[in-house]
Amino acid sequence: METILVLTHVDESGSALTKASLEAVTAGVELARQLSATLTIGILGVDATAASSTVAATSARLLAVSGEVFAQPRYATDAAGCEALCRAAQASIVLVPGSSRFVRVAAGVAHRLGGFIDTHITSLSSNDAIEATRWFYRQRVEATISREARPWFLLLDAGTHAAFAAEAAVAQVEAVAVTLPTLRTTVEGLRSPMRDAQTIRPDARLLFVAGAGWTKKQPDGQIHVAEAGQLILTFLRLSGASLGSSKSLADQKAEGEQSVLPFLSHMNQIGQTGSTPRHAKGLSTCCHGEEPHVVGWRFIGERRAISLDANCGWTRGKADVVYIADAFQVMARVNALLEARSS
Ligand SMILES: Cc1cc2nc3c(=O)[nH]c(=O)nc-3n(C[C@H](O)[C@H](O)[C@H](O)COP(=O)(O)OP(=O)(O)OC[C@H]3O[C@@H](n4cnc5c(N)ncnc54)[C@H](O)[C@@H]3O)c2cc1C
Repeated sequence: METILVLTHVDESGSALTKASLEAVTAGVELARQLSATLTIGILGVDATAASSTVAATSARLLAVSGEVFAQPRYATDAAGCEALCRAAQASIVLVPGSSRFVRVAAGVAHRLGGFIDTHITSLSSNDAIEATRWFYRQRVEATISREARPWFLLLDAGTHAAFAAEAAVAQVEAVAVTLPTLRTTVEGLRSPMRDAQTIRPDARLLFVAGAGWTKKQPDGQIHVAEAGQLILTFLRLSGASLGSSKSLADQKAEGEQSVLPFLSHMNQIGQTGSTPRHAKGLSTCCHGEEPHVVGWRFIGERRAISLDANCGWTRGKADVVYIADAFQVMARVNALLEARSS
């Protein structure tokens, strides 16, 4: 008989669970139902007990590790807190949200428990045995994994499950004591880029991709990089979309060949040697839609593209809708419509 533990942590507010944590709760509830297994939810954070009300409706056993020392992510304290939760739960299966906070510590905690870990899990199911799926080779091959070894830690990719949502209720929470090691790391605070500079937004519904065409000579024989930058940033501001880039566009900055869009970096790059984000919709602009780029669109629900080239890769079955049009004109019009709607 399996015992399932879902590890969760609070967000910046200090008293609510993160979205990725609530997604892991959904995965835990579903798996526990399939296996008729007992479910425990472990919460880590400065005020873990306050966060517990959102998962009270699961009827799971609730364990909490609380205190000021867990206010900030830090390997030593997070690993010790998760280890204490795992030992208290005595679980055979541990589901962990793929947040930056827990990705750092999950393998270490699995090692301390003498367990095994698999990462980037996208779905879980159970017939005779528990089966977990993940992608390999830049999302081209999907594998199904099962293991005899326990405890088995499964680090879940964010965005693969619906966030658990139910009426908040008063919860019975068991406080778990943690033996902390000597702390050598002091967290002084967080430094984050200015709001406008933060163009990668994993939770956005829309991915907006800029291709190298934005920096190429246009029909008037001139390049219009400043206008391109202004159109793209205006659209991001008005739509809240996340910004992706083709490799050709991101590379231009690194090589310093010509004036390019200063708010783009390789972090924005989508594709085989870039990222494979998950968004409900995607809009590609001034990009040719070549396979090494489009492979990064695997998890985009609905794909649209604006290209001048009627023979581009997007028109060859890689997009749901392709507008053969000038992206400068289209985006100027779209921005005007969005501006009118927001005022
Ligand atoms: C091993 C390997 C790995 C790679 N990995 C990646 C990767 O991870 N990500 C990636 O992106 N690429 C990757 N590439 C490169 C990829 O093959 C392409 O070269 C790249 O995606 C092309 O970028 P692009 O479409 O923006 O540029 P281009 O091919 O230059 O296309 C620009 C497009 O813009 C259009 N255009 C120009 N002006 C306008 C306008 N006003 N309105 C509308 N359209 C306009 C043009 O018609 C053209 O289709 C990889 C290549 C290799 C060999």
